[in-house]
Amino acid sequence: MAIVGNAKFKYMKKIILVVSLLIIVFAGLYLAANYQRSPRTGREKLAVVTTIFPLYDFAKAIGGDRAEVSLLLPPGVESHSFEPKPSDVAEINMADIFIYTGSFMEPWAEDIIQGTDKQNLEVVDASNGITLIPGVFHDEDEPAGSNDPHIWLDFTNDQQIIQTITAAFSAQDPKNATYYEARAVTYQESLKTLDSQYQTTLANCASREVVYGGHYAFGYLARRYNLEYLAAQGVSPDAEPTAQDLINLVDQIKNNNIKYVFYEELSSPKVAETIAQETDTKMLLLNAAHNLSREDLAASKTFLQVMEENLNNLKTGLRCN
Ligand SMILES: [Zn+2]
Repeated sequence: MAIVGNAKFKYMKKIILVVSLLIIVFAGLYLAANYQRSPRTGREKLAVVTTIFPLYDFAKAIGGDRAEVSLLLPPGVESHSFEPKPSDVAEINMADIFIYTGSFMEPWAEDIIQGTDKQNLEVVDASNGITLIPGVFHDEDEPAGSNDPHIWLDFTNDQQIIQTITAAFSAQDPKNATYYEARAVTYQESLKTLDSQYQTTLANCASREVVYGGHYAFGYLARRYNLEYLAAQGVSPDAEPTAQDLINLVDQIKNNNIKYVFYEELSSPKVAETIAQETDTKMLLLNAAHNLSREDLAASKTFLQVMEENLNNLKTGLRCN
């Protein structure tokens, strides 16, 4: 009996040892998972870095008071030709989440991502799940196969972007997931309202032609609301329009009795001014919201406000009723 009892004791000891080991392993895995899936230790808020204004505004709307969102572009700086500084790269490396528009808008972002600590940083490509439309080729800077990167100028795309950002927030900070999701639902409603305002306002207009004295930024918006969009430059504002491009636009305006020329934000309206003078038309701002001026950022102007102002100017410029 003693021998059997001893064997039984050894057997029990073995089970206890195995169970203890399993507890230690699972506890370790649980802690590790939680460590990675919450804002980095010592920080109360989720640290989020965004590249351009719409993503900054969306991230702030979803994050509320639980996220610290920063915009990489300095106020008023043109976004297509932006080059990040070493301090920008360091900031991204310290963040929980980095959100960019995609390889066509920020070609420089790919290099930064290669050099980041992927263990802790969640990199969000906002164009995920969005069907891109091909770019318009005005010059050799836009090789064939380039897509139009201005995806935020279709409010149904923005609904997808909101979902993508919210999923990343909830993954990195699961204890606040319900908070982020509730805020996202509210924002989705505002986007739906904005979309129906555009549908209604732009339904009956004397003209459907948007002549733009800037780069080709509003392709998505024009497609969504069945407008014709004529821009002086291609999808990137780097290249000057050719004389022939300008002659074509002037002819179009004269032939189709167009009354207004639209100009873009944050860059010289020289091209629009030339066209307006040549055709005796008036000028109106159509703000693609890549970035905002220092004053507008300081006044906490939102993406929705910019788009409402655009709708008012489109209503005037296209003579809608
Ligand atoms: Zn652009």
